[in-house]
Amino acid sequence: MTALYYDWIANHAERRPDSLAANDLGSGRRFTYAMFDERIARLATVLRDRFGVKRGDRVAVFAPNTIETFEVQFAAWRLGAVFVPLNWRLAVPELRAILSDCAPVAMIHDAEFTDRAQTLGESFPAMRLCCFGGPASDYEQALAHAGRLAGNETVALSEISTILYTSGTTGIPKGVTIPHTMNLQNIINSTGPALLGRHSVFLGVLPLFHTGGLNVWANPIFHLGGSVILMRSFDPGEALRLIGDPAHGITHMFGVPAIFQFMGQHPNFATTDLSGLVSAGVGGAPTPLAILTAWAERGVLLQHAFGMTETSPIVLILDKEDAIRKVGSAGKPILHGQVKVVRTDGSPADRNEIGELWVKGDHITPGYWQKPEATAAAFTDSWLHTGDAALVDDEGYYFIVDRWKDMYISGGENVYPAEVENALYQIPALAEACVIGVADKRWGEVGRAIVVVKPDMTLTEEDVIAHCAANLARYKLPHSVVFTDALPRNATGKVHKPTLRQMFGA
Ligand code: ADP
Repeated sequence: MTALYYDWIANHAERRPDSLAANDLGSGRRFTYAMFDERIARLATVLRDRFGVKRGDRVAVFAPNTIETFEVQFAAWRLGAVFVPLNWRLAVPELRAILSDCAPVAMIHDAEFTDRAQTLGESFPAMRLCCFGGPASDYEQALAHAGRLAGNETVALSEISTILYTSGTTGIPKGVTIPHTMNLQNIINSTGPALLGRHSVFLGVLPLFHTGGLNVWANPIFHLGGSVILMRSFDPGEALRLIGDPAHGITHMFGVPAIFQFMGQHPNFATTDLSGLVSAGVGGAPTPLAILTAWAERGVLLQHAFGMTETSPIVLILDKEDAIRKVGSAGKPILHGQVKVVRTDGSPADRNEIGELWVKGDHITPGYWQKPEATAAAFTDSWLHTGDAALVDDEGYYFIVDRWKDMYISGGENVYPAEVENALYQIPALAEACVIGVADKRWGEVGRAIVVVKPDMTLTEEDVIAHCAANLARYKLPHSVVFTDALPRNATGKVHKPTLRQMFGA
């Protein structure tokens, strides 16, 4: 018997029509589950009748964080179509490459991006455009005149729900295909460890074209019938204000380390009431201990998690109870899925030995869109190679060491930049730091620290190197320090190391 996808929003609209589904802060609109369901049902009709969207067709969204992004997702799913949220930080040629790869039937876009949307529309005349959010919004008009879709398509869990493009930090963006079953697995795997329930109120800050923004924890919250409070774009002071405001009752949030770092450096961090947070999770990039401890001191035990677009995403997560005792660990594997750390020859690494993290299970992508060779290269016997260095300690807790590709070799010794960055973040005057390996005649490669100093504070190259010398083995010491105003980051907030290498690697 084929397992099927069932629409979550329609179910909650039946059970608790008046519960808050979403608060779209950018537009000031609040939708109950009944309203959300009605809009999605009408949008599905519009997609089918006006744009000709059929099962398997791709529907792209080009927008900042807006509730319409989720409306398109759920409406596409009711038709058995594939949702493709686009990275709005990309330039037109990059977007063209993605659109020609996945060939969407329609692109729904925010009024803010009309110029780029129209330019793209000229390159893809068969792709229908639909704008929301501004005076030229044909989206609301279309909804106002449409009836509800009579009868959703029957959709198998094995059918593709979403294509998410990788950010391209490690090559040309690839479309990760996400069948419905991956979404469901992620929901099952996340609900327990992240303490999610139907009364959860989630503050969404990560971009919705990324698996973090969609699946940690917005989609699980919609699945459970909780509420999603959506920021159009992240702002640390505003995020603190929202969490501290009892009228919102925010219980959950998730961010990459930079989110918590910038909130932690905001003047209101010390005085904001954070006691309403039941669970706050961090992951997506190496997380300096200094961030975890700063939040623990304010009573928030950040749950460190590891995931990837290809794993839909959660693979490892630390329980809240372990947040202090096992600080720095990404926790243990989720319930449904397998994880192992292997040597370069594929044999299992010993406890405490650094190897590559491999994962396997129904929460893993079946492959990249139309890229069988890239798919084949990413797997060995259904085990996905993450490209990340990790180790398991004596108690079975996983530690992500760094990306293999970011490791450099100095005098024959492996250096993982994340470890050096961890030490740098202990310097009180330091706001941001990143370490790269640069060529060196004597040692092959040596570390270079790129550092941002906090406003009104001073820090010298000697201070930075002396601090490292007191905390790290000699071969890990950065040999040079470069000061800059801000680290280049991708739209998710992760440091963009290829750009850093270009700027400071020579
Ligand atoms: P990108 O590789 O473009 O950033 P993803 O968002 O899919 O795309 O990121 C997955 C990668 O993020 C992982 O392979 C890993 O390098 C990094 N990552 C995720 N979680 C953690 C974590 N907890 N600690 C360190 N690195 C992490």
